[in-house]
Amino acid sequence: MRTFLHITASLLLSATAYAAEPIWDGNKVNMISEKLATDVYAFYADNARELNASGGAAATSSGLIVGSRGALLVDTMLNKRLNAQVQALTRKATKLPLLYAVNTSAHGDHSYGNMYLPAQTRVIQHAHTQNFIATSLDADKAFMLKNFGDGRGIEEIHAHPADLIVPAGGKIVVDLGGKQVEIIDFGFAQTGGDLFVWEPASRVMWAGNPVIAKKPALPWLLDGHLVETLETMRKVYDFLPSDARIVPGHGVALSREDLKWHINYLATIEQNVRAAITEGLSQEETVRRVTMPDYRGYVLFDWVHNSLNVPAAYKDLTTPKQ
Ligand SMILES: [Zn+2]
Repeated sequence: MRTFLHITASLLLSATAYAAEPIWDGNKVNMISEKLATDVYAFYADNARELNASGGAAATSSGLIVGSRGALLVDTMLNKRLNAQVQALTRKATKLPLLYAVNTSAHGDHSYGNMYLPAQTRVIQHAHTQNFIATSLDADKAFMLKNFGDGRGIEEIHAHPADLIVPAGGKIVVDLGGKQVEIIDFGFAQTGGDLFVWEPASRVMWAGNPVIAKKPALPWLLDGHLVETLETMRKVYDFLPSDARIVPGHGVALSREDLKWHINYLATIEQNVRAAITEGLSQEETVRRVTMPDYRGYVLFDWVHNSLNVPAAYKDLTTPKQ
């Protein structure tokens, strides 16, 4: 089912949003660093703030936590070029070794750079991510080539095995020396292999793609599971203290209250699609009915909402649960 939805999404992507040009170009993005707290940095594209504010689509974010023993990198980027940029930002922040790198999901823009990391860096993945890469990397590369274009360094990617695995529903804590970093599976959030990275001293969380960016960006239910995704996002919200900052998958940091936008969007889809199903509407009729104009503003709204999220919600709410 997941594979089917993935293929459906790839057809939709190539047919609509990304027909000619990639939404951002892996050969052009320029990454910058923002110090969020002592030894805690967010890395994001130099135009991310502006794109987030205008509802545009920014490139992948990353980040770094440094302890007295070494550092941990969050997400390894789409290609060699972008991985080299985050490694350069890492070396500017610390001369200590890069001990760990976390993949917040199997998505190529968050994990393809694993193969370019220093030999001593241990890669941390969710069990689902490890399995997805082991079984589906070729199909995933084809999907990514279609959406991000040839000649962006995707062709040369090969699987790089993980060193530490977070089991389903689990959590691991790594000690960087004076900094304990928690890497947590809160439940299905977009791919089933979604890891959230939490640094309690600075109260900074990296969320990966379950939080693409602040309002008006919307969740992408690429692999379905609306109900579980909503439940997970509520869990994340409840976990966070009120002054937490969240580095999303594609943009600059947001606040805990900013997560309400994503949670309310998912809750509103659920409510509206349930009502349409109760009335006996078909999927196509439901897409036409559930337009949710209050949530417009994201450049990808027509594709993400109409072609991806409402159909995913419809399928999720009409599929009998085991
Ligand atoms: Zn991403």
